[in-house]
Amino acid sequence: MGFNINYYESKVDCKFCKKHFTTYKVRPNRCQLMKEDTDFMPVYDGLNPLLYEVAVCPHCGYAYHKSMTRTYGPFMMLVNELYIKELQKPADICRERTIDDAIVSYQLAYLVARASMEESLLLANLALKIAWLYRLKQEAEPELRYLESAREFYSKSYAANQEGTERIHYLYSELSLRLGDMQEAKKGFSRLISDRKVSNKYRKLARDRWENYRYDEAPKINENIY
Ligand SMILES: [Zn+2]
Repeated sequence: MGFNINYYESKVDCKFCKKHFTTYKVRPNRCQLMKEDTDFMPVYDGLNPLLYEVAVCPHCGYAYHKSMTRTYGPFMMLVNELYIKELQKPADICRERTIDDAIVSYQLAYLVARASMEESLLLANLALKIAWLYRLKQEAEPELRYLESAREFYSKSYAANQEGTERIHYLYSELSLRLGDMQEAKKGFSRLISDRKVSNKYRKLARDRWENYRYDEAPKINENIY
């Protein structure tokens, strides 16, 4: 393989077994962002860097995402007990990935993050990304299952700053809408729209999303909700 126009090889030191390996990353100038879905999923024309965010060690199977923080000492003992010992055979997904390979990489990272008791917010973001990958495959059932998990973790999440808190509230409402839980969606969006302390950015996002839903999508689904 060697030189590749779309990818470069990123060098990784495994945080678990300490061995070295390389894994593909998409060259940023090869990605073209087309739009963002209402739950912030970036949609690319062609190459999708999302598929290459998780590095999976081909030696021991440890899976790492850059958002993880509990990657040392006692947390690694938990990872060893609850994850590494349960692994059958480490996956080798360090080169070009299909969406299915990417789903495997995120599911492994999700297992590692749960074993090391990472924060709810981090688990929510990982579950949301797995849902996005199923959306790319147009597999609604597993997408909804992971959206449900993401929503549950967002409801238990705390953010360090206001922007983060607003993002959590927005996503909780948005995922409720996608899951067909209209009561929670309406409650969440209404709160974002009416609360004067919420930033203009999120007030506008919430108002646009809720109005689009009410006028464009809702009438097709059910006339009698309001
Ligand atoms: Zn390793």
